[in-house]
Amino acid sequence: GQTATRLLIGRIRSGRVAFLIRILLGKAEFCTRGSALEPEVRLVANIHGNEVLGRELLVTLAQHLCAMHRRGDSRVSSLLERTRVHIVPSLNPDGYQFATESMERELFSGRMNMQNMDLNRNFPDLTNIVLRMKAPKRHWGPVPIPDEYWSDEVAPETRAVMRWSSSIPFVISANLHGGDLLIRYPYDLSLTGEEESSPSPDEEVFLHLASTYADAHKIIANNGTESCPLGMSAAGGVGSGAQVYNLHGGMQDFSYLHHGCFEITVELGCKKFPNASELEQEWENNREALFSFLESVHQGIKGVVRNENGRGIRGIHIAVKGNPRDVVTTRSGEYWRLLQPGTYLVQASGPGYLPSLKRVYIPEGMRHAGQVNFKLQPDPRPRRITLQRWKQRRWMAKHASGRRHGGDQLNTRHGYPSDCSGGKEKEIRSWLIKVEVVVRLLK
Ligand SMILES: [Zn+2]
Repeated sequence: GQTATRLLIGRIRSGRVAFLIRILLGKAEFCTRGSALEPEVRLVANIHGNEVLGRELLVTLAQHLCAMHRRGDSRVSSLLERTRVHIVPSLNPDGYQFATESMERELFSGRMNMQNMDLNRNFPDLTNIVLRMKAPKRHWGPVPIPDEYWSDEVAPETRAVMRWSSSIPFVISANLHGGDLLIRYPYDLSLTGEEESSPSPDEEVFLHLASTYADAHKIIANNGTESCPLGMSAAGGVGSGAQVYNLHGGMQDFSYLHHGCFEITVELGCKKFPNASELEQEWENNREALFSFLESVHQGIKGVVRNENGRGIRGIHIAVKGNPRDVVTTRSGEYWRLLQPGTYLVQASGPGYLPSLKRVYIPEGMRHAGQVNFKLQPDPRPRRITLQRWKQRRWMAKHASGRRHGGDQLNTRHGYPSDCSGGKEKEIRSWLIKVEVVVRLLK
């Protein structure tokens, strides 16, 4: 069947369109949902219109993946068979057009969209909310968008990405920039506003994702040898965003905090608008890094949370002891939780169900995500709700404004037909993972 589809992500002010390339395999692509647990990966470039290398790389990557798959390349086929890849080569086609016609594109010409807005400062600033949380150790899920956000102008490009991200539960994402040579990961903001490390609860996973890209890149990890004249530096080419410089309203932190998608920001090189003659070398520099990054979605654990009738349950929190950031199950009860090798206590819980806790051991060198499913029993006790929980829910409800951008707070899947009786379910491998049910519940 057809491998890649070109879809519209959004029409923008000028009438130009931002489009996305979706690379999925096989006719049964829609029907493996809920059983194969194929993770979704996203790559977005050219958010700043004058930073063009990512745009070229992503178009080349899409062509390359399709060509290699047709040729029967085993690595590419293995990747595409178990991963859903979504690529947006240019989120800011207006800025790009402006930059191509300008002489000052290495500076700021074309950075903004047509309304002169910086798209990577236009997302809701949820980092500021999380950094100021009163009880940071208490578990929290998707951070809602504050109502105030909508009273300022929201760019159509930003809105399109938010709507798109609400409809697909992306597990990892990279957004590609230019003008520097390093990789940032959340948070992009520190509590003090100083340039210092500002780790999220998933620091280890982020460091691993960023290093995966940097180590496979031909230059980034060669610390110091290739730093840009006006650039910042970070050890090994990777660092939390705030370590490099503080910013509000970036896409990376928003994706993590609102959607639970692990996003990194790749600064591809010193030149924002390199010459065409440099593109081939740049593709060579980044090819393995892009591949490795896509493959790195296959780590940690994933699974389905079902009720006693075997139906997937939506909105169940998957909590890892010692990490306050929960992931939440999709409409069909699926979840993905990136974790580094180690032993973890993982709990599935939601209103109306008795929580279930499992101890999970993830060995070193695992190249797949281990499957850990949960079956929840209804809670027979009358529902009692603590004052704390009640306050939290009221706060969430008050701030729940997700519908304004067309999605809702949870990741839901739209457009997947529910009748998949003809779909061929994928074989579930026997995972090298040890799971045991334990009884103590997480506080
Ligand atoms: Zn940029």
